[in-house]
Amino acid sequence: MRLRFLAVLCLITFSLAFAQTDPLTPSAKYDPAVPTLEKFLGYKLGGDFTPHHQLTAYYHALAAASPRVKVEPYGKTAEGRPLNLVVITSPENHARIADIRAAVARLNDPRKTSQADADAIAASTPVIIYLSYGVHGNEASSAEAAMQVAYELAASQDAANLERLQNSVILIDPLVNPDGRERFVQGYRSVKGASPVSDRFAAEQSERWPSGRFNHYLFDLNRDWTWQSQQETRARITAYRAWSPQLHVDYHEMGAGSTYHFAPPADPILESLNTPMLRKWFDIYGRANSQAFDRHGFRFFTKEDYDLFYPGFGDSWPLLNGAVGMTFEQGGGRAGLALELPDNQRVLTLYDRALRHFVTSLATSDATIKNRVDRLKDYYAFRKAAVTAGEQSPERYAYIVPSGDSERAEKLVNVLLRQGIEVHRLAAETDVARLTDYWGLKHATRKVPAGSYVIDMAQPLGFLVRALLEREPKLESTFFYDVTAWSMPYASGVEAYLGGAGTKADLRPVTAPITRKGSVEGGQEVAAYVFSSEPIASVRLLAALLQADIRVYTSTRGFKQAGRDFPAGSLIIPIETNPPQLGAKVRELAEKAGATVYAVSSGRSESGVDLGSNRVRFLRKPKIAIVMDSPVSPSEYGYIWHAFEQQYGVPFTPIKAENLGGADLNSYNVIILPPDSGDGRGYQRVIGGMGSRLTDWVRNGGVLVGIRGGALFAAKKRSGMTSVNFKFLSRAAEEARIEEERSAPKKDETPSSEPPPPPPSKEEQEKARAASLERKLRKYADKEKELQKEQVPGAILKTNLDNTHPLAYGMGDQLAVLNNDAPILELTDKGDNVAYFPKEGVKLSGFITPENEKKLGHTAYALRERVGRGFVIMFADNPVFRGFWDATDRLLLNAIYFGRVTIPGVD
Ligand SMILES: [Zn+2]
Repeated sequence: MRLRFLAVLCLITFSLAFAQTDPLTPSAKYDPAVPTLEKFLGYKLGGDFTPHHQLTAYYHALAAASPRVKVEPYGKTAEGRPLNLVVITSPENHARIADIRAAVARLNDPRKTSQADADAIAASTPVIIYLSYGVHGNEASSAEAAMQVAYELAASQDAANLERLQNSVILIDPLVNPDGRERFVQGYRSVKGASPVSDRFAAEQSERWPSGRFNHYLFDLNRDWTWQSQQETRARITAYRAWSPQLHVDYHEMGAGSTYHFAPPADPILESLNTPMLRKWFDIYGRANSQAFDRHGFRFFTKEDYDLFYPGFGDSWPLLNGAVGMTFEQGGGRAGLALELPDNQRVLTLYDRALRHFVTSLATSDATIKNRVDRLKDYYAFRKAAVTAGEQSPERYAYIVPSGDSERAEKLVNVLLRQGIEVHRLAAETDVARLTDYWGLKHATRKVPAGSYVIDMAQPLGFLVRALLEREPKLESTFFYDVTAWSMPYASGVEAYLGGAGTKADLRPVTAPITRKGSVEGGQEVAAYVFSSEPIASVRLLAALLQADIRVYTSTRGFKQAGRDFPAGSLIIPIETNPPQLGAKVRELAEKAGATVYAVSSGRSESGVDLGSNRVRFLRKPKIAIVMDSPVSPSEYGYIWHAFEQQYGVPFTPIKAENLGGADLNSYNVIILPPDSGDGRGYQRVIGGMGSRLTDWVRNGGVLVGIRGGALFAAKKRSGMTSVNFKFLSRAAEEARIEEERSAPKKDETPSSEPPPPPPSKEEQEKARAASLERKLRKYADKEKELQKEQVPGAILKTNLDNTHPLAYGMGDQLAVLNNDAPILELTDKGDNVAYFPKEGVKLSGFITPENEKKLGHTAYALRERVGRGFVIMFADNPVFRGFWDATDRLLLNAIYFGRVTIPGVD
């Protein structure tokens, strides 16, 4: 008896101890009706990488078994996979979920909801917790962890869990990027052995191009929150905004050598997020997670590497909306089921990785629930502070003027509207005092035209508005995880101002996204159809016309027809060289493209060149090949792919770099070499073996467009296709370049036409000697900072643009470009420097040292050189960036359509 009692006691003690030590089953009692991972999938957490359809099926099984779980579809990926939100809360909360949502939504607008009402809502309403797993598809452990989290919440019968579900609504996005993760999972499965090979050089530990990180179009969805260029993001933001969450955690993985990162985040932090209130919350979450990790002896770090600067991340964007947004990183992304860490530290398994995400998911949720009332109150307080800060700002209003191509302003406004930002329109022309434009000019007073868009910073999303529209974020650090500048007026290329209120401004709210439809205007008797080169819609229309085999010409000089001025680059569709029923086709395509076309009755222009002039040039239908796969950078290729396919309707053949050598190049008349993942030497490795075939193809009339590394391939010291020299900003890259040139076989070189630079003065020599000594004697620990300073991590720079050149048709004479540590292209004296950095005042926004600004002064951003009967067009950096930097897209589009256009007699 006594013995039996002891045995029972032992059993109880044992199971209690087990419950405490097995972090996977933190509860004492689980509902057997709810399927475990093992029961449903055939393996426990971390037993395998679960494909998307099985992940999805598991959540549906949970929903079928538990009244706590509901699966709500919120969209589809580009490859057609379903996107779901799994809503987990108590059955009582599910029964009143619409009321909960409505109550929390009232916290969104402190102008309508009083403090007393907000306090009452905070006291009585569950907190909304939003956990996003797997935004980077090859950081594959978090989607496994999410299933375990959902199981715990759905099945645990412990009182603590019931209380948890009573006080919160937990939203699980089980897989933010299904297309990317499926690419990873299937890639892994296709090379894995019967049992895991933990050797870090095993095939199953390394992915094939383009890797599972990105979505279908090879965009990084963790850079897209604010721009919503991808359909996955647009769907997610709609779902997110419908719930108004107070917490958002984005689950990631980093290199296998690292442990685990959670809040507090690293510096720099956007000024509006660098507040005592948010620091308090980062501390609360940091402590909760360190306690949970210490309990199990898991290693971690905080406050390093993952900053809060760029507003398009899955932490900063939710923060700017009032939630606490955080990025959690587990070491071991991209690895297989088991990976032996260097120096025999241990074998890291998928189970280890998923388990840690599981632990932080619960600890972070519980910290939120424990501080539920405060979290809800601070959510309201953040949005209230945004209104107040806006009211007090001398630059309270942003004005977007739809001058020139109004589509740019409309697109910018639509991006703001989709985030819930309030936008108004001026009903009448208004005088505004003390305005600053985005080129740094101050205007004592200015008339802002009717129809201009006005964005008031004094709104609940005022901090988000400021982050997106201010000219330059405040910089206090030299380390950045991503770009340091993104100001939308630069990116969109719109006329914009910041300043105070207009006198008696008549403001009308913009309530729906702006759409546009093109048209054909003008007479019955038609000699030709003409349309201006200025709107970006004209390129979309041109692409569609050429695709439909309609013959289109461009005028290298401006002309006036039907009382309208058509600038150089404007487009002409003559009746003479086109088939009958032209009118109907032009109308159909113009409407679709959003372009306005004018039917004109005579080839005789009112001024400028006539429509049959020699200065009106026939446009060849481009047959485009874009080189992709290794060594091309996946996302740099993806930006172009997405822009061509989704924004402009430009057809092309994607061709693998390794297949270019075997391809019949005569099938194409435009070949684009996008940036590689390094300094351009990847191209030499993969296509260098083609010998002179590519050059011969250019000589015979081809247009080669080289971007960044692709441009360097075409440089004098690389393939020798052009006369262009290049350098690098960072010391290490520059030293490698000098070494590369030293060891390269000497070629006969024509001497430069430039006179040699004058020898440095005594004073300059002395200064250089002192700088060199200071460098030699610097402290070891300072070297890291020095390296960071050498970089240009995404700054906005000013270029002068020669818009008389075909490459800049339809554009202004200044252009803001993004520089992401791009190489320096020296000005060509053989060709045309179409976009170049001015001697001084290069920086518009973001981080760049004065030394680097100086190095970039009077160097090229975009240039063209004639090679035989063809042309090489070179870009220092990618003019197409992340689906939102529309201002520079036009350069690449012009390169395709106008790349061969010349004025007769002029090269
Ligand atoms: Zn990641």
